Order: sequence, then structure tokens, then C-alpha cells
Amino acid sequence: TQYVSPLRVTPVEMHSLTRRTMRPVRGESYDYLVVGAGLAGGVLAERLANDMDKRVLIVDKRDHIGGNTFDYYDAAGILVHKYGPHIFHTNSTEVMQYLSQFTSWRNYEHRVLAQVDGQLLPIPINIDTIERMYNLSLDGDGMQQFLAARAEAGRTIRTSEDIVVSRVGRELYEKFFRNYTRKQWGLDPSELDASVAGRIPVRHNRDDRYFTDTYQAMPLHGFTRMFERMLDSKRITIRTGVAYQDVAHAYPNAKVIFTGPVDEYFDYRFGALPYRSLEFKHETHDRERFQAAPVVNYPNDQAYTRITEFKYLTGQVSPRTSIVYEYPKAEGDPYYPIPRPRNMALYAKYKELADRKSEVTFVGRLATYKYYNMDQVVAQALTTYRRISEQERKLAVA
Ligand code: FAD
Ligand code: UDP
Repeated sequence: TQYVSPLRVTPVEMHSLTRRTMRPVRGESYDYLVVGAGLAGGVLAERLANDMDKRVLIVDKRDHIGGNTFDYYDAAGILVHKYGPHIFHTNSTEVMQYLSQFTSWRNYEHRVLAQVDGQLLPIPINIDTIERMYNLSLDGDGMQQFLAARAEAGRTIRTSEDIVVSRVGRELYEKFFRNYTRKQWGLDPSELDASVAGRIPVRHNRDDRYFTDTYQAMPLHGFTRMFERMLDSKRITIRTGVAYQDVAHAYPNAKVIFTGPVDEYFDYRFGALPYRSLEFKHETHDRERFQAAPVVNYPNDQAYTRITEFKYLTGQVSPRTSIVYEYPKAEGDPYYPIPRPRNMALYAKYKELADRKSEVTFVGRLATYKYYNMDQVVAQALTTYRRISEQERKLAVA
């Protein structure tokens, strides 16, 4: 083919670690059973095996490793993310150094445009956003004054509506945030914790990057490749296409690390914890570029929230281009914990059960019901590992 790409290694459509059936082998024994091969499970498995010489079985009910970060080369040879765009960014040197053992990186600073009133405008809102929306010319002070005249500054901040209105006022809130949030979460911003829309800052300068973290980079050969290296140990056995329920009784002596939904673990004893789901629609187009930015957000006019064009993330060169649409849904795979007081109260009940269950460790975005980014999950998993290894060392001495 005439396709050229600095990244293409082998044109695999699905990864080498495909579905394997679980048959407990006689004599097979493990110190740890890790449930879920996403970042939380991957980090714990790697640390237990390589730092403490533990024998680890890691299972995932999906037919691949990597959890929600899973990526693969599609039929056009573009490295795409199966479960929506995953952009790595962190301020943590520890997290960056830890992951750098398993991947090299491609520097990448993410940028997003939002389609508002027929224009594509930078989000987070910055001076350029306001200048173009209102046909103004502003400096930093001008921006400050523009916002001060609109922002409801004295407002008590509890919800996502509060935080946005207190920063930019009601009009910008309605154009950029209210409908996007309703679509994404199925809730009005006034029903969601401030931490949700609070993820998106307001800039009093022209910085149009989505993140300002110290480290912003993508794994050079993708997340799945990074996971393959992370789990490449003779003490780690990987079984994909295997649910916890299939193996829960096969290894009674193994300690369990659980990274799936915490309510599922406890058979929904207190009722189901709400998680928001998405449907991903992947497409490849016979043109070099699809859109003007890596991600375009559609707050108001479409059923989808955003479109991602993957070539921006990978730097690949190709006459074709692959994109993904995200359609929010109530039903389906649990992708997002929904931060609001009533859900946090329900989670607190499950957490109490989880804390009492000392032979099982709950870690990750689903098991601790936290709207965490990848780096936060890695940091949480490393902290959890330190706690486990201290306990193990104390037990070994006793
Ligand atoms: P997961 O990756 O969900 O892994 C849990 C695994 O457990 C899953 O593979 C699941 O199949 C498995 N499992 C569950 N139950 C069972 C069971 N009973 N038996 C066996 N296996 C089970 N973060 C960023 O930093 N930057 C981003 O740009 C970003 N974008 C995102 C976009 C989307 C659409 C989503 C949904 C998330 C995004 N994230 C992003 C967050 C990121 O995906 C998570 O922080 C991280 O992947 C969570 O890792 P985890 O191991 O906790 O969970
Ligand atoms: N948000 C919004 N408009 C936007 C971008 C974000 O209203 O153009 C709000 C929305 O509630 C969203 C939240 O801010 O769910 C967090 O956005 P982010 O891009 O961090 O979401 P994620 O990438 O985690 O889906």
C-alpha cells in the first residue's frame, strides 16, 4: 500500500493477547488474583510480581488487556482508542517515571474546539474564545473585566452550575456547558458536583491547551503495547475473556485485587450505583483531515458530545483518517462514576463493606467510584501497592 507511517509496526487489527478460555490447571496456584486488566489491575500485577516476587493471575472479562485505554491499529493502519480518546497528562514525576519503564513517549499537547453559534471556538474558554464570540479585542485586564462583569462571583459553590456561572456568568455557561453536561450525564449541571465541570478551567490568557500539566505525552506505540510490556513477566499469567465470577472459587488461597464496579462485587446489596455509559461510533474517511482540531465538542446541536480524530494524537501520516463519535447513554458498560451527593452516599455504604473485607483490595475508577484520570489511577494503585507490600513485609517478619 502507499500508506506511510512512522508508527506502524505490524498491521494487527486486534492484539496478540486475544481471548483465552479459563480452565483452572491442576497444581496451578497464585498468590494474587487481580480482577481487571486496566491501569489499576496492571500496575498492581506488575508491582506484586516484579517487586515482591508474587505469582499473579490477572483476568479481564473483555477479550483484551488495557481496560478503557485499549488501543489498536484499525483497518486503515491508524492507531485508534476503542473506548474514546485517552490523552495522558500528569503533574506527578513518580507516575511519569513509573510508566516510562514500559513505554517511550511522543510529546503531545491536546487542543479542543467547541462548536458554538456556528463557530469553532477554543475550550477551555480563553481570550481568543471571547474575542471571536463577541468581536472584541482584549488583553489580560480586559478579559478580567469582561468576566468580572458577568461572573456571579459571590455564589456558594456546590454544583457544576455554580462553579461555571461563578467563573464566566450565565450566558457562556448556557452556550458551552449546560447542554453538553445534560447530554453527557443525563443530568442538569445543578445536579452534579462542582468537580465535574470544574475540570474545565477558564483562562485569562491565550493558552489554548486543554491541559497545563507538566507532563503531556502519548505512549509512542500506544497504551496496549505499554500494557504488554508492563505485564511481561514469568510470574504473571494473563487470562482475557474471563470474568471474576468464572474464577472466584478456583483459587481460594489467592488474595484478590478487585478493579471492577464495587456494587457488582457486593451483588448490588444496597442497589445499583449509577455509572454513565457511552456508545462509540468509529469511522474511517478517505481524506487526509476530517476536522480542524484533535477533538471538537458539540455542546448544543448534536446527539454526540464530541468527535476525536486520532491522527492528531499519534502524528501518523496517511491519506485516510479515523475518527470516533461519543454518544452518551444510561445503559451499557460503566464508564463514568456520576459525582453527586446521593451517589456518594450510596458509595459510602459500599465502601464500608469493602473496608471490612480485608482479604480483598478495591482499587481503580470503578471499584472506588472516583472520576479519576489515568494518572490518578496509577498514583492510587502505587499507593495501594505500598500499603499491601508493608502488610506483607510485616506478616513475613511475624
Ligand atoms: P478500567 O480501565 O475500567 O479497567 C477495569 C477493567 O476491569 C475493565 O477492563 C473491565 O473489563 C474489568 N472488569 C470489570 N469487572 C470485571 C469482572 N467482574 N471480571 C473481570 N473483569 C472485570 N483519563 C485520562 O487520563 N485522560 C483521558 O483523556 C481520558 N479519557 C477518557 C475517555 C473516556 C471515554 C473514558 C471512559 C475514560 C477516560 N479516561 C481518561 C479515564 C481512564 O479511562 C481511567 O482513569 C482509567 O482507564 C481507569 O483504569 P481502571 O483500571 O480503574 O479501570
Ligand atoms: N464540559 C462541558 N462542555 C465542554 C467540555 C466539558 O460542559 O465543552 C463539562 C461536562 O460536564 C463534562 C465535564 O465538563 O462532562 C468534564 O469534561 P472533560 O472533557 O474533562 O470530560 P471527559 O474527557 O472526562 O469525558
